[in-house]
Amino acid sequence: MAQQENQLFKKFLDLKNSSGSHSPSVMTLREKMPELDIKVDACFLSNPYATELFLKYLNDDLNSKLSLRDLLEFYPSTNEIISDQLSKAIDVDKRNIFVCNGAIEAIQTVIHNFTKDKIIVNIPTFSSYYEFVKPDIEVVYYRLKKYENFKLNIDEYIKFVKKNKPNTVVLINPNNPDGSYIEFETLDYILNELTDIENIIIDESFIHFAYEDKSLSPVSVTKLLYKYNNLIVIKSMSKDFGIAGIRAGYAIMSESKIKNLLKNGFLWNSNGFSEYFFRLYGNNTFLNDYEIVRKKYIKETSAFFKKLDTINRIKIYPSKANFVLIELINEKSSDNIVSDLLINHGVYVRTCSDKIGLDGNFIRLASRTFDHNEIIYDSLLSIF
Ligand SMILES: *Cc1c(COP(=O)(O)O)cnc(C)c1O
Repeated sequence: MAQQENQLFKKFLDLKNSSGSHSPSVMTLREKMPELDIKVDACFLSNPYATELFLKYLNDDLNSKLSLRDLLEFYPSTNEIISDQLSKAIDVDKRNIFVCNGAIEAIQTVIHNFTKDKIIVNIPTFSSYYEFVKPDIEVVYYRLKKYENFKLNIDEYIKFVKKNKPNTVVLINPNNPDGSYIEFETLDYILNELTDIENIIIDESFIHFAYEDKSLSPVSVTKLLYKYNNLIVIKSMSKDFGIAGIRAGYAIMSESKIKNLLKNGFLWNSNGFSEYFFRLYGNNTFLNDYEIVRKKYIKETSAFFKKLDTINRIKIYPSKANFVLIELINEKSSDNIVSDLLINHGVYVRTCSDKIGLDGNFIRLASRTFDHNEIIYDSLLSIF
């Protein structure tokens, strides 16, 4: 038995190492390690209730007005037409919207086209922000500190940026992998201090899970675009709407930057399903339903994190996202715990052993449905 477990452990680590800085998907795991019985994917950071909602709309529409054949047979609309559709939903002029094939495409193209000489990235972070920079660009890391719960130290950060004079800085809000959050007013203050920096990227891929008061409404910096011309907001729809498979995202930036990107391509970079999603995003009935599942998920997530906090020998870092960073206060490595959870409990979580800027043993855990969160909690409890 122990030997079999060791073999599975080795096989899992090999798979993990061959997937670079992103974890192997559950689909890959099921294909390559059929002996595993995966019950919960707590690695992927999405709202499962939103996926169900999207599926319901898609199925209903496929049964009435939407033709699957049309989706497959015809070209989707061009980039600029989809921007126009999205414009109403997010209340931003279409000339400031870049629709992309997942936020990752915006990250890649913004960094390739606008980042010159030097970029400052806060660590720990989402790895693409430093992996996609061209070799002649210097990446300077600003460390978020464990003893400050990974919360950005505003004045120190501003000083650091002014001293280093980069062309681009990146703030992910809430940050991945720790979930730390920067309030809207603070971001306004930072932007006001950093008007000399050419590109300020604020990645709001998890903003729908964050809130600043009891209304649980997300507070986006999008509206600050007209105040700060250097602002670039990047937004994935994969996590909050639970639709990573259709590759939908957008970025908000100055009109001249958008023009610069569009003249380089991106004509049909959305597919029929993401176009369908963006149309749905402008539909009030869908949005009202989405608000219900968004709030339900936020409430369950917050209760789940409180419960996790009662487990001994793990430390939960404060998070305004739909995942928590957990420090393991024991002798076992995070890779070991992740394999134990996967092999013996069918719970898949992300090890953070490959994340730069994290000293210690960390795992990142996503909140899932209420029932799945119960399974995750019980499994952790039995290990610790
Ligand atoms: C997942 C993620 C993305 C990429 O999102 P896609 O829209 O699926 O490409 C971008 N930024 C952050 C911070 C993420 O966590």
